[in-house]
Amino acid sequence: MHERKINVHVNYMHPQRNLLNMKLARALRTAGRCGALAAGRYADAVSGCDEELAGRIRGEQIRSVLRHLTFATLATVLNGAVLVASVWNEVNRASLLAWLLAVLCMVCLSVARRLTGSVSRHTRASHSALVRTVRNALMFGVLWGLAPILFFVDASGGSRVVMACICAGTIGGSAFIYSRIPAAAIAMIVPIALGSIWALAQSGGPEFQYVLVLVVGYCGVLIRGVLLNGLEGARQFFTRSEIEQIARRDGLTNLDNRATFRGMVADAILRHERANEPCAILYLDLDGLQKINDVQGHAVGDEILVEAAARLQTAVRRVDRIARLDSNQFAIIAPDISGEATLRAFASRVISAFQAPFTHAQQSLDISVSIGAFVIQSGVTNVETVMRNAELALQKAQRSGRGSYHVFGPSDDAALFQRIGLERDLRLALERREFYLNFQPLLEIESQRVTGFEALLRWRHPVRGNIPPSVFIPIAEDTGVIDAIGAWVIREACAAAAAWPPGMRVGVNLSAHQLKSRTLNAFIATTLEETGLEPQQLEIEITESVLVTDDQEPLDILTALRATGVGLALDDFGTGYSSLSYLRRLPFSRIKIDRSFVTDISTSRDCAAIVKSIVTLARDLEMDVIAEGIETHEQYEALRRLNCSEVQGFLIGRPMNEEAIESYLRKGVTLQAA
Ligand code: C2E
Ligand code: CA
Ligand code: CA
Repeated sequence: MHERKINVHVNYMHPQRNLLNMKLARALRTAGRCGALAAGRYADAVSGCDEELAGRIRGEQIRSVLRHLTFATLATVLNGAVLVASVWNEVNRASLLAWLLAVLCMVCLSVARRLTGSVSRHTRASHSALVRTVRNALMFGVLWGLAPILFFVDASGGSRVVMACICAGTIGGSAFIYSRIPAAAIAMIVPIALGSIWALAQSGGPEFQYVLVLVVGYCGVLIRGVLLNGLEGARQFFTRSEIEQIARRDGLTNLDNRATFRGMVADAILRHERANEPCAILYLDLDGLQKINDVQGHAVGDEILVEAAARLQTAVRRVDRIARLDSNQFAIIAPDISGEATLRAFASRVISAFQAPFTHAQQSLDISVSIGAFVIQSGVTNVETVMRNAELALQKAQRSGRGSYHVFGPSDDAALFQRIGLERDLRLALERREFYLNFQPLLEIESQRVTGFEALLRWRHPVRGNIPPSVFIPIAEDTGVIDAIGAWVIREACAAAAAWPPGMRVGVNLSAHQLKSRTLNAFIATTLEETGLEPQQLEIEITESVLVTDDQEPLDILTALRATGVGLALDDFGTGYSSLSYLRRLPFSRIKIDRSFVTDISTSRDCAAIVKSIVTLARDLEMDVIAEGIETHEQYEALRRLNCSEVQGFLIGRPMNEEAIESYLRKGVTLQAA
């Protein structure tokens, strides 16, 4: 039903949206298959689902069982011992000991498998690992089902009560432990239930018949419960994976999008820093596309983009990755290329892939590609710098005429000269007191209460005037000056917040660089003490780029900080890797949905669907959620309908200086479209 609804809404003017809608329809079909997976129809589910996703769902399912292994092992040994002790003088001891030995062997086998198995270390699990888990559950089920068959009839009244308790407890426990793998839960519950029913039926007496009815009833309830729970688990997992997918790909060409590309550039910089691995970044612009969009319409333009993506795929090597950055811009990340000659040959090959004419309705279209390239080099530690240099090279190529390329070199550095000047000034700016903070209000929708403000850094340059943080923060990060500036921001923000009405929080942005310092937490603790601010009133905002690291230390620092009660928000969610595994790497208290999803929220079903999923996900993970960049009443209404709890943006209030806060709070919030 959902699928049909989605197809009806296909918008013929926007093929990009169509593709996204088709993606959602496919997503819903996959959800059905994942349901089958949860219900135990592995073959169906896995053959239909993409194997990567199915493997990750299996991994989650198996890990959910392994988490209970210690508890389950202790419970099994205890139950076995109690059962043997209670019927020791009443039943055949040889069969009792043989049964106990079989149970203990199974327990040892499960523990050994856990210690040697790979599932706990990897995110994915194979189909056979899942089958083994179900088989294990079945073996335990059969052993526990044999107990009443072998010993119930000969046992005394008291021992029967003990045995009935143990069987009931084991049935309940298996439903709990295998709640994410319904097939395993059923494989364990059914044999125990059958054994118990058989023994009760043999035992005569109306009380046993009543117990028999109860056993049947309870098992029915438990089996229904595990089926629903397994389905819900797979649904939640699927929703998370789907948000990741949609947020990472370009809907029209199915290439990586800008956010994913930035992540790959960050990785490449890291690999260059660590192992000196060479890598080139190419920016590509389709010449002539704008004119075709204007004259022939966007549908034709979109066709060209799709074909251009296909041509690029054929021109590059297997190791290269292509992304679509925006309307007519693509980018390639080419590892192992550093020499100028190789880079020029590579660029020429890409340009020649566009020599055969593009056609539409038997008409040939005038399209070519211009390329700007930049080779990652030592000293460049910032994604922004790499992307800006590649863009600069592209602009230079475009100035030399269509279909040309330009490799960024030292002579292109007019911008760099300017940067060097800024670097010098930046080092002095703290001393010269050129920084100040602005504060932007955060509004809780339901109560219409201002819950706090985000501190945003400003630099008033004596000659150049106000310089935006997007320009000076990357330079401060590259040069390491960010540590001193960041400390100043924390101190100023906490001091300001201490004067606000009780309970209000202040959000402070932190750069990855600041998390290299072990003294950060001590500094924050001292600052809180000195300013009298409660830890809960401070919320540190970090972006995913902080988490893209093999280094455990920043994560440890943030985890320790969170343990002191300081809030931790994941900023710009949806623009980075959007990998939900990161959400689990740190105890975030809040997700900040990026402005890019909010901009189109009132007009685009895709954006609304993504925001809705993020809100649901945040609730599942017990995190709060705030949407950024709300500028219109329509966006505000859409977010309210989607149950987003807090909002921030020009509509609620522009960043203001500290003095303006008091009168802003006194007047009360009036929503004013930007
Ligand atoms: P951010 O953390 O995402 O901050 C929100 C940015 O969005 C701010 O830009 C804010 O002025 C802008 N904004 C808020 N509402 C709206 C809206 O409705 N529409 C539009 N178009 N924009 C809106 P700003 O102040 O230029 O800051 C840019 C970025 O600089 C910040 O993005 C943050 O990443 C960084 N930054 C700012 N202050 C600091 C700081 O103290 N330390 C660090 N490390 N980074 C900072
Ligand atoms: Ca922020
Ligand atoms: Ca943000």
